[in-house]
Amino acid sequence: MAGALSGKVALVTGASSGIGEATALALAGHGATVAILARRRERLDALAARIEAAGGEALALPGDVAEAGEAARAVTAAVARFGRLDILVNAAGIIRAGGAEALPAGEWREVMDVNLMGTLHCCQAAIAPMKAQGGGQIVNISSLAARRPSGALGAYAASKFAVSGFSESLRQELAPAGIRVCTIEPGQTRTELANGLATGNGQATAGPARSPTDTGLRRQEFMEASDIAAAVCFVVSLPPRANVAQLLILPAAST
Ligand code: NDP
Repeated sequence: MAGALSGKVALVTGASSGIGEATALALAGHGATVAILARRRERLDALAARIEAAGGEALALPGDVAEAGEAARAVTAAVARFGRLDILVNAAGIIRAGGAEALPAGEWREVMDVNLMGTLHCCQAAIAPMKAQGGGQIVNISSLAARRPSGALGAYAASKFAVSGFSESLRQELAPAGIRVCTIEPGQTRTELANGLATGNGQATAGPARSPTDTGLRRQEFMEASDIAAAVCFVVSLPPRANVAQLLILPAAST
């Protein structure tokens, strides 16, 4: 597919739904070849088929980013298939509602394992091939929660503070190698993750009640996943001399 990103190879994590799926579609729409990673294989296969039906090229890579070996295998498979890796978008993420008192430590670890360690694992795996080809672009999807934590979403906020901090540190570390790192911090976006909180099921965690009120989330406007995907496309389309280091994106009606 011809476009501004023709010839570029991207790997998008969390591509089986929401922001990752929209980003994979948008990157492919701009001509990039996309490798797509998440745990739900059937959703990845459906997305790959959709991209290919539109004239693009896609590779479904089922895997769990919390497992370093699985993240590394996905990056290796993408490079083996397409010969390079220009863009890595880390969108895989989970949320668990519940404060310090309610949420068991194991679920805090689960959130950190996916949101922080999953991002780290994919970045670690991508650095060598990007260095070998003389540069690349990493986009880490953090959250508004890294700036304004909501009550009773402590694990999520802590993980996103960590992602934003790690990401800025990585930007400085990799700049000399020509690898740009961007942190995107979206506000509320209509996806399965946000729906889970809005309907109060908070991704089915055990323990004391964790309703939307418990989470401290105020009702407000939502963005669409395609809005964040458009921002990713903007970031990765800039000339190599320019890097959007951090991007905070809020619903326009947000106060
Ligand atoms: P979704 O729930 O729609 O998407 C999350 C994606 O992450 C899914 O594709 C899921 O796929 C994947 N995922 C979860 N755990 C793993 C894992 N262990 N290994 C691989 N993939 C995994 O939510 P969003 O699109 O909203 O979330 C995308 C990112 O955006 C997250 O990092 C989230 O924190 C962030 N964000 C979202 C906001 C919102 O309001 N929606 C606001 C700010 C940030 P699968 O289950 O198939 O593995």
